[in-house]
Amino acid sequence: MHADNPATRLTRLAPSPTGALHLGNLRTFLVTWAIARQNNWHIVMRIEDLDGPRIKPDAERLALDTLSWIGIDWDSDVARQSDDLAPYTRAMERLAARAMAYPCELTRTEIADAASAPHAPDAAGEHETPFPTHLRPPIEPRSFADAATNWRFVVPDEQIVFVDDFVGPQHLNPAHSIGDFVIWTKRAQPAYQLAVIVDDARQGVTDVIRGDDLLDSTARQLLLYRALDLRPPAHWMHLPLVVGPDGKRLAKRHGDTRVAHYRQHNVAPQRIIGLLAHWCGITPAPKPMSAKEFLERFDCSTIPRSRIVMRPEDDAWLFR
Ligand code: GLU
Repeated sequence: MHADNPATRLTRLAPSPTGALHLGNLRTFLVTWAIARQNNWHIVMRIEDLDGPRIKPDAERLALDTLSWIGIDWDSDVARQSDDLAPYTRAMERLAARAMAYPCELTRTEIADAASAPHAPDAAGEHETPFPTHLRPPIEPRSFADAATNWRFVVPDEQIVFVDDFVGPQHLNPAHSIGDFVIWTKRAQPAYQLAVIVDDARQGVTDVIRGDDLLDSTARQLLLYRALDLRPPAHWMHLPLVVGPDGKRLAKRHGDTRVAHYRQHNVAPQRIIGLLAHWCGITPAPKPMSAKEFLERFDCSTIPRSRIVMRPEDDAWLFR
């Protein structure tokens, strides 16, 4: 497969069944779907259900049902990360043998206490403590024997450069923003960063479209691709996040913006799509729109370059 042949480009919809498919997530899915359908890319559906305690029973069915209700479709069977952990385990064995991963039992508090420098909030306005390198054990080949502990990736202090199709050239150094990050958790499961690259590689994903809160994660993921000799996706597109009036990533504190909540209250899918279309710069003000019309009118170049603020008026418009 040649990644740049438009006929074989492939993207994925990767919902986490945490029960929180809100308008921000839906915007990403709708845009991904529209770009893929406009360009005849293949769409894989992948359920990212390895997020332990945040995974809610029935949330997978609800997420898939919600996407279908909006009019989003896909071309693959539903792949579920929890169905088979062997590919992630094999990746861990390789990283451990290559002296690129080590077990680490330190707690968050111990790490925060050991980190001397104050740190800046990340893109989503949240704090992460970069893992201090002096807490790293000797770097040596290991066997991935203990799957019931956290394992960290040995992050080199180097700038990762890539060009994002939406935000342009990026120069990011994960050693400064996060340090050695967790790739396997003590719940005996891969962490998001490892699971996502193993899957994107084996599913042949050429195009990743997601929120710009994951830009720094892309740098981390590029390090993992390199460490595992895997081919990274050829194209990345990180969209400005949908935030609340306080500038923070859309969350519960901004009220109930779950798509299922609007559906329960008989808000028509056309209204929801209409609001997302407005957020994507398709219309100057929200107006009801079908998924088909969204697909016909969507154009990446009209997406605002800055973050989209969901205001109480938007919520009120949906219920009108
Ligand atoms: N499962 C992730 C989410 O719902 C998607 C991450 C990704 O696109 O890489 O936020």
